[in-house]
Amino acid sequence: MYITTKGLILRTADYKESSRMLTVLTESEGKISASAKGVRRKNSRLASGAQLYAYSELTFSKTAGRYNLTEASAIELFPGIGAGGLESLALAAYFAELLDAVCREDIPEDEILQLALNAFFTLSEGKKPRDILKGAFELRLMCLAGYAPPLSRCSRCGEPEPELPVLAVEGEGLMCASCAAASGLRSVRLCARSLAAMRYVASAEPKRVFSFSMDPDAAARFSLAGESYVSAQLERSFRTLDYYKEYTRL
Ligand SMILES: [Zn+2]
Repeated sequence: MYITTKGLILRTADYKESSRMLTVLTESEGKISASAKGVRRKNSRLASGAQLYAYSELTFSKTAGRYNLTEASAIELFPGIGAGGLESLALAAYFAELLDAVCREDIPEDEILQLALNAFFTLSEGKKPRDILKGAFELRLMCLAGYAPPLSRCSRCGEPEPELPVLAVEGEGLMCASCAAASGLRSVRLCARSLAAMRYVASAEPKRVFSFSMDPDAAARFSLAGESYVSAQLERSFRTLDYYKEYTRL
């Protein structure tokens, strides 16, 4: 059986002399693993469309549940990601690792694929501050994956606009700093601006998720809240995030 679909290459791993295993977020099949045989040979027809972070039209043969890439034609290669230096590459790697962690095999996730493409496009363009892009991607991905944090009011006392807002990352969402301190829950500090950004991202039109701005201090809090929330909800850390933070510290 042959399947033709569009997909974003999230991960590649070389095997044998000239082949490569791909993890692909596809439109019609969801996340799949596929082998790209001979892709590392000179003049392979698959090479361009099967490279890391390419968004491509892909044809697979499927036998006994295994996908084998037979044709690949790149639609978008996001050239600005490589040109943007190590920080930009590290952030792309983190986005890909997060997508791989959240998406399940063989279940199409249209909105997550759209978010991923939008994020890679914005990263490649290089105009959006990375803290904003990163925090918005993290939060929106969590919302789409079923982990949306409650943000309308303090989850303890009900205050809609806490004077000192915090995000309780294990699931309680928005709280007053004092309510969080009394509860003993793990939380990260927000501010009025970063809270407004979180509310915006949680409910924005898909194409407008990254269409906002804020000052660097608020953006840094927003970004920290995003990564803290992701790691608390998914109960794991991300090696690629550690790399990203190393590069941004330099
Ligand atoms: Zn409260």
